[in-house]
Amino acid sequence: MTELIDPFGRKVEYLRLSVTDRCDFRCFYCIPKGFKDFTDSENRLSLEEFVRLIRLFSELGVDKIRITGGEPLVRPDITQLIARLSELPGISDLSMSTNASQLEAHAANLKQAGIGRINVSLDSLQPDRFHSITQGNLEQVIAGLLAAREAGIHPIKINMVVMRDQNLDEVGDMVDFCIEHGFTLRFIETMPVGAAGQNAKESYVSLDEVRTILSRRFEFEPCKMKGAGPAKYLRVKGERLKIGFITPMSQHFCDSCNRVRLSCEGTLYLCLGQQDKLEMRPLLRQGLSDLELKAEIRNAIQRKPEKHEFNTSPDQVVRVMSMTGG
Ligand code: SAM
Ligand code: SF4
Repeated sequence: MTELIDPFGRKVEYLRLSVTDRCDFRCFYCIPKGFKDFTDSENRLSLEEFVRLIRLFSELGVDKIRITGGEPLVRPDITQLIARLSELPGISDLSMSTNASQLEAHAANLKQAGIGRINVSLDSLQPDRFHSITQGNLEQVIAGLLAAREAGIHPIKINMVVMRDQNLDEVGDMVDFCIEHGFTLRFIETMPVGAAGQNAKESYVSLDEVRTILSRRFEFEPCKMKGAGPAKYLRVKGERLKIGFITPMSQHFCDSCNRVRLSCEGTLYLCLGQQDKLEMRPLLRQGLSDLELKAEIRNAIQRKPEKHEFNTSPDQVVRVMSMTGG
């Protein structure tokens, strides 16, 4: 039972940990072109610092951790970090978001270290288009996905950011791909987060439109999904495939928000779309005790904003997505 309850009565049980803001891809909606302002290594938390902070969060009642970034697999000590976090008694759900470019080599070790489930970003099944969106290599991503399935990681969820001018015509192909391989599929609306997200505003398409397009080919029925979070799920009739719709823009889910985000610099962000935060690195390095750090966390949760303002203030530029951890 979490001790972390904000002034709006929301229970904070989930922490997203951005273990690095660096990435081997450059998705145009996530990291701005030419961006160089990545965190210096001395400002990045060490493995021991991450483990200590996550232990404190877990003692306060956070039991779900998602490792994200940036790209978590570019961090050389990622397997050790996961192994250490999975040993913490309070953590019941340890998952990862990855672009899968390096997953082929890591999948078996990640599974052994204790990763329960993964989400993989995949915006296109066409190599040229995939490269133009991400600057990455589709073949490596598919190899990573298959290696993860082979290693027994389950479920594997595909995250597709749907963009009118980029991949709206591929939503049906992605459904077929996920049916074929036994993956879960989640569509995501483009958010105006950071300068890159601002530039992608023209690409926004409401997921209502995606559902309408898919209904011409597939019949859906409502279904439940364990750990669904903000996604609303439908099942394709006659198939095992479940499809989640994540609609931060057209139907925001702030009133049931149960999460906070910790950056690789040790900044606790209380909302993806707001600036409210607690700088934890200086507190850690000043030598605060566990009790003092927990008091700081409890106080910070009292400042969790009620909601993001992506619709009412769409031009408000907050951090680069890879820093906060999407
Ligand atoms: N590198 C990993 C990956 O791509 O899955 C983890 C970090 S990435 C920031 C996490 C998720 O955020 C991805 O699914 C990505 O598509 C999503 N994302 C990044 N920028 C976004 C934006 N402007 N709007 C919507 N989703 C975004
Ligand atoms: Fe990298 Fe993920 Fe951002 Fe793409 S969405 S640039 S893969 S952090």
